[in-house]
Amino acid sequence: MLHVSNPKIYGQTGNLLDKILSSGSLAQGKLVEQFEHAFAGYIGTGYAVAVSSGTSALHLSLLAHGIGKGDEVITTPFSFIASANAIVYCGAKPVFSDIDPLSFNLDPNLIEARITPRTRAVLGVHLYGQPFDVEPVLDICRRHNLVLIEDACQAHGAEYQGKKAGSFGTGCFSFYPTKNMTTGEGGMITTSDPVITDKCRALRNHGQTERYHHTTLGFNVRMTEIAAAIGLGQLKLLGEFNSQRIQNARILSDGLSDIPGIVLPAILPDRLHVFHQYTIRVAREYHLSRDGLKSHLEANGVGCAVHYPLPITKQPLYHDLGYAIPMPRAEAASTEVLSLPVHPSLTREDLNTIIEVIRSA
Ligand SMILES: *Cc1c(COP(=O)(O)O)cnc(C)c1O
Repeated sequence: MLHVSNPKIYGQTGNLLDKILSSGSLAQGKLVEQFEHAFAGYIGTGYAVAVSSGTSALHLSLLAHGIGKGDEVITTPFSFIASANAIVYCGAKPVFSDIDPLSFNLDPNLIEARITPRTRAVLGVHLYGQPFDVEPVLDICRRHNLVLIEDACQAHGAEYQGKKAGSFGTGCFSFYPTKNMTTGEGGMITTSDPVITDKCRALRNHGQTERYHHTTLGFNVRMTEIAAAIGLGQLKLLGEFNSQRIQNARILSDGLSDIPGIVLPAILPDRLHVFHQYTIRVAREYHLSRDGLKSHLEANGVGCAVHYPLPITKQPLYHDLGYAIPMPRAEAASTEVLSLPVHPSLTREDLNTIIEVIRSA
């Protein structure tokens, strides 16, 4: 069976792990600091703050910008649920704005209509590894005095106009095993703002600004030294992993380009798409439904997945919270998208198998 993701810990983490275990310093320490420094350098921001997950990165970023009860945050309905949940954790209201059907990311042209006097931020998601159209979104943020939070949990190393995702607003990354790089569980906040940095550092550690001196209500969302050691090894290999993903995507697109009704992932101008997912659209003209093609792939040993079968606005939780508003493009996408394996450990033969299995459908 070819799996949709196949996390591997490459690199020389072994020695480092032995050292950590014998040192007795297991929680947030020197290696976490080193990892933060290396990650900020890679993304091109002044600072990075390591946390326990992508979800906690989003939560702390919003809190650090003072977002709370009564505030509204504009976001996409087509993402993993964590991007909207983080807004709800703060007591703020997620205001959904529909997607651009080509990239599956927020459509900048629809955002301004969603702004009210309570809007404080835009939380955009760089879905599948491709940056959303940052420039017009930043322009809206500047004109309306809004904060930009970038959910880059699927976009480590992705670029927009030659700059890394996560360097435009406050960047949030996840290091969950299926992502382009992993630490087991883990996350990172990237920013060049020293005030936001200090607030995030305090918030991840019970609001502590000096030892046992707590100025705000914080959390325990620290990263361990073990996770940081894994992350340092992974960061060195991220460029290679991403190149492999991009090459795999190119091979898949070459092999699938002439099938009527299969819409291949679009790479938009000025973007480096790092293919966290290689997601096709199974359009209505295709002779099988999306679910029909999915069953055919699985029956032939090719794993695949639907990201995501429900827009967040259609999730029962969001229905109960009163956010069940129509999002026609996200709803259409959720019935048509299918992610094929694209991860770095696929061989040329695996890719040929995927192509042949789709062709035989
Ligand atoms: C994975 C992911 C998250 C959450 O990251 P965790 O580390 O699992 O908490 C948030 N947003 C998006 C878009 C993701 O893909």
